[in-house]
Amino acid sequence: MTATSPLESIPPKASHLGIYLLLGAIVLGVLVGAFFGKRMWLASGGPTAALEKLAEIRKQKEAQIQKDGQEDKQTEAERLQAQLPKIDAEMDRLMGLAKEADALEKAKANGFPRAAFKLITFAGDLFLRSLKLLVIPLVVTSMICGVTSLGDIRKAGRLGTWTMIYFLATTLLAVAIGLVLCVTIRPGTYADDTFAHVTKTTAAKADDSILETMLEVVRGPEKPNNPAEGMIPENIFRAAAEMNVMGLIIFALVFGAALTTLGEKGKPAIRFFEAANEAIMKMVHLIMLFAPVGIFGLLAANIAKRGGGSEFQVELARLAWYAAAVLIGLVIQTALLMLLYWLFTRKSPFTFTANMMKAIVTAASTSSSSATLPVTMECVEVNNKISNRVAGFVVPLGATVNMNGTALYEAVAAVFIAQTLGIELSLPQLIVVMLTATLAAIGAAGIPEAGLVTMTMVLTAVGLPVEGIGTILAIDWFLDRARTTVNIYGDAIGAGILDLHLKEEVTDSAPTPA
Ligand code: ASP
Repeated sequence: MTATSPLESIPPKASHLGIYLLLGAIVLGVLVGAFFGKRMWLASGGPTAALEKLAEIRKQKEAQIQKDGQEDKQTEAERLQAQLPKIDAEMDRLMGLAKEADALEKAKANGFPRAAFKLITFAGDLFLRSLKLLVIPLVVTSMICGVTSLGDIRKAGRLGTWTMIYFLATTLLAVAIGLVLCVTIRPGTYADDTFAHVTKTTAAKADDSILETMLEVVRGPEKPNNPAEGMIPENIFRAAAEMNVMGLIIFALVFGAALTTLGEKGKPAIRFFEAANEAIMKMVHLIMLFAPVGIFGLLAANIAKRGGGSEFQVELARLAWYAAAVLIGLVIQTALLMLLYWLFTRKSPFTFTANMMKAIVTAASTSSSSATLPVTMECVEVNNKISNRVAGFVVPLGATVNMNGTALYEAVAAVFIAQTLGIELSLPQLIVVMLTATLAAIGAAGIPEAGLVTMTMVLTAVGLPVEGIGTILAIDWFLDRARTTVNIYGDAIGAGILDLHLKEEVTDSAPTPA
């Protein structure tokens, strides 16, 4: 069994040209999205879709006003009534934009922006699909290789214990930072729930208790029973088909541990998974050659989908303080993770971070820890030279369990929602937020906006209306990118710290090469 990275044959340096190309792709993607995005949005029916959403928000408001009136909640009904003119003004503005789009259509000026939008979306989708394609085989092979290369099951247990301690400690730290910031900045006093949009997901989750939500994370929803869902899926192939990464991780962990107990008999199977893992990592390397085009496409298309820079400004202005609190928190958490890395390893956290650039950029453009996993693995193993036995275990597990950015955002969002509704959370309630935000981050899948769904758990725990999520929905696509980068960065730092501290112990106990 080999103790080294399966990628040794690939030149380890991240070429400067590659990094410049990536940075160029980000800048170009943001610029195209910001300045040409609105044209693409107008040409692709953006204003009409935005108008439809706003009309739905207005309908939801009217229904709530009526309900409050019937239940004698006069003050609340009046508060909501006062929001209607603001919604109407926004509808007028969007109608103006829809007319502008019609005029452009009549003047036959929409052909190029529409085609450009389609092509940009295509480039981004292709990149995202290629990464997702590798997630399942990568999770299975790297987890099995990680566990089998640890050799002795007790050593695997020790690595597992330290990994969990690291995950939990950094997640709690992130939540604490989020809470302190939110309580001091008080972003909720600068915003309200005028444009809150209640979606099907939030409405459906409104009645779930914390216990139910937690049980669902482990087992999957009670009804309809889906054999692919939960940590213990009934059918491992369906779990793979439906991208249930957590279910696969648990299966691969136990399967790998079982293989190590088979002695000689298990070795051909272990060698098979090692070769498969090496091949998948080479495929990741291949895909990354196209990363500049893919990342450009993802960024430009996503900004364009929301109306470009000017529409984003409108949305951001409504939630500026909330966004600032989340972003400041993420920066502080990143700085603390860097400090932690330096304290434990005495190595430069800046070099480590520069080596992670590809993964950071991919996380920011995909909003998905799972889709970024292949790139994170490449940066951790190849660029930062973390052993496959630690990286293969810590990184895939971290991609679904360890979400520092999501935990921080869950805490900020919960307190922010309370503040917009004029509710002051007491100290015991803040502690409940801290605990449930940690659980919500652990339970969130590594996919875009998964944190929004598990957030219901935090809100119900402190008695806040789940519909409050609607308030932060508009800019979640943006904050999701920021928190996902911190999510994957936390996994990488964890692998860096644990590698150095467990390497010798693990090397001593690992079986000698076959
Ligand atoms: N998009 C995040 C991730 O994949 C999860 C979330 O916070 O929504 O890490």
